[in-house]
Amino acid sequence: MIKTSLQEKVLVLNKFYQATQITTLQRAICHLVKGTAKVITPDWTTHTFEEWIKISKFYENGSSTGLTFIRSPSISLIVPEAIYLPYFESLPQNEVVFSRQNLFLRDQFTCQYCGKLLKNPKERTIDHVIPKSRGGKTVWTNVVLCCKKCNLKKGNRTPDEAGLKLLKIPRTPRWQALILEEFPKHKKEKWKVFLNFAGILENDEA
Ligand SMILES: [Zn+2]
Repeated sequence: MIKTSLQEKVLVLNKFYQATQITTLQRAICHLVKGTAKVITPDWTTHTFEEWIKISKFYENGSSTGLTFIRSPSISLIVPEAIYLPYFESLPQNEVVFSRQNLFLRDQFTCQYCGKLLKNPKERTIDHVIPKSRGGKTVWTNVVLCCKKCNLKKGNRTPDEAGLKLLKIPRTPRWQALILEEFPKHKKEKWKVFLNFAGILENDEA
C-alpha cells in the first residue's frame, strides 16, 4: 500500500472544466461528502461520492497497480487526482498575480510578435509594448511575451515604429491561471489532461 496523507494535492476544476486551484485531499473529501464536488477522472467522467466509494471498493481487492488509497476504519477511497465543482461558476475574485509564469501562460508560450512557440525558457523575454523608458508601465496591458529576436528588433521603440504587429492586444487574464511554481512536479503527468485543456501545460515542454 502506498502511503498518502490528507495534505496530498488535488486539482480543482470549475464549472467550465478550467483548472483553477489546487486543494488538499482533506478539503476535496469535504466537498465530496457535502456533494458540492464530484471526482473527475482523466476520461472526463465525473463521479459522485457514493459512486466513488463503489469504484474504490471494486478496485481495492483487485491487484491494480498505481492506485493510491486513503483509508479510515470504515471506508477506503482511491485518492482522486482532481475534483470538479459543478456549481463553482464565479471565478476567483482575487486578481491574477502578475508574474512571469502567468504572463507566459496568458500568451501561451508564444512570441506575441512573430508567433513563434518558445519551448525553451531561455528564448523567452518580456517586452514592454510602450517601452519603459517612455513611460510604459509593467502591467498586464503593456507587457507581452516576446522572443529574443523580436525583442532585439523592437529595441526601444513602439511596435509601430519597429514595424512589428502584436498578434493580440494584451489584456488582464480573466481567470486565475495556475501558478506553475506552486504545482507539484510529480502531479504534472497525472494532471496533464486537465491542464492541457485549460491551456496551461501545452507548449511548456521545454
Ligand atoms: Zn518573435
